[in-house]
Amino acid sequence: MNLTERDLRVIWHPYTQMKTAAPPIGIVRGEGAGLFDEEGKKYIDAVSSWWVNIHGHAHPYIAKKVSEQLFKLEHVIFAGFTHEGAVELAERLLAILPNNQQKVFYSDNGSTAIEVAIKMCLQYWLNKGDQRTKIVAFKNAYHGDTFGAMAVSGRSAFTKAFDSLLFEVEFIDLPNEQNIESLKSHISHLKSQLACFIFEPLVQGSAGMIMYEAEYLNQLMAHCRQENVLMIDDEVFTGFGRTGKRFACDHVQVQPDILCFSKGLTGGTMALGLTTCTQQIYDAFLSEDKLKTLFHGHSFTANPVAIAAALASLDLFLEPATAANMQRIEASHRQFAAKIEHHPKIKTIRQTGTILAMEWETGDNTSYFSSLRDKLYHYFLAEGIILRPLGNVIYILPPYCITDAELGYVYSKIEQALEEI
Ligand code: PMP
Repeated sequence: MNLTERDLRVIWHPYTQMKTAAPPIGIVRGEGAGLFDEEGKKYIDAVSSWWVNIHGHAHPYIAKKVSEQLFKLEHVIFAGFTHEGAVELAERLLAILPNNQQKVFYSDNGSTAIEVAIKMCLQYWLNKGDQRTKIVAFKNAYHGDTFGAMAVSGRSAFTKAFDSLLFEVEFIDLPNEQNIESLKSHISHLKSQLACFIFEPLVQGSAGMIMYEAEYLNQLMAHCRQENVLMIDDEVFTGFGRTGKRFACDHVQVQPDILCFSKGLTGGTMALGLTTCTQQIYDAFLSEDKLKTLFHGHSFTANPVAIAAALASLDLFLEPATAANMQRIEASHRQFAAKIEHHPKIKTIRQTGTILAMEWETGDNTSYFSSLRDKLYHYFLAEGIILRPLGNVIYILPPYCITDAELGYVYSKIEQALEEI
């Protein structure tokens, strides 16, 4: 029995309708932007394995650091204890994040980083004796799959089975030149009830790589600061270079109160989540009263092995070669976009940093369940490329180490698909 056959007997896959989905492809090895199946066929990972990988698969430097850590300390309870890696990673990240960020709270994935951020905001107000329970989020937002994270995400097919159980959230449009003033007055109107505003900066990934301008996000954030509304910047997807700068918040001037990270944090090697906050938020939890404690923690909080991966990934991320690669990909995407933007099958094409997204003409409305999606997905797999369209939106989001030859191959197969599909 090969890997696929054995899998089908025992595994239930994420975001997969197991009755109709094609059998999974067994991957045995990774190198650079490539993944290799049991027969040795190479797949270019043009979506960075759900957006997590930034330096390539099985990176030898990260592997070495992780391996060394395993022989030193694999894990220790993170209440009452600490360890070198946790402190060093916090010190090094805080040094490159907006300078109002003062404390790091560890967890183990993007959704938990969001849960922690939401709890910090809700309890911040409670601890200060001003109970505020309303949260503002963007329409079509996606912040994760746990219940709190689902609640602050747009209501969609993903949340439908649970909608009646999700707490109420005020959803607003993405800001633009036309609506910014009305969004501001909406926030002012609600401000005394508002615990926080949560957003994906510049790009709404899961919604289909929907992009919006930093200028209007900045205006909205400035207004939130003025109205004393806490801001949660969800950098789970956009962090670590995706938008062309280290963090998406580097595109705006106003500093958020809280930031959330995961995915690229460990270079995509290990599961780790992280929520940072200001001294002001942290201080609201300091008390003789035990009930003011942030009662949140996971068994694997600040796992030393995951942190070793994050530290190694950060070393690589801060090397000038990585920034140069990001710029190379950005320029290359721009050229390709200019080449195909007028193709009749391209409805729109948009780019932020190293993310390039193309909306394909389907004749009907863009939807996650577009039948074109499956066609395109399997077309590219057959050509040895992993592109996982969100409905009729194809996006390229590669590890920064992808070679020009690999990128060129991906572009050429997209052009071929435009003619053949
Ligand atoms: N926030 C954003 C913006 C995301 O894109 C994601 C995952 N795609 C999450 C949160 C949730 O992260 P995780 O899948 O690690 O729970």
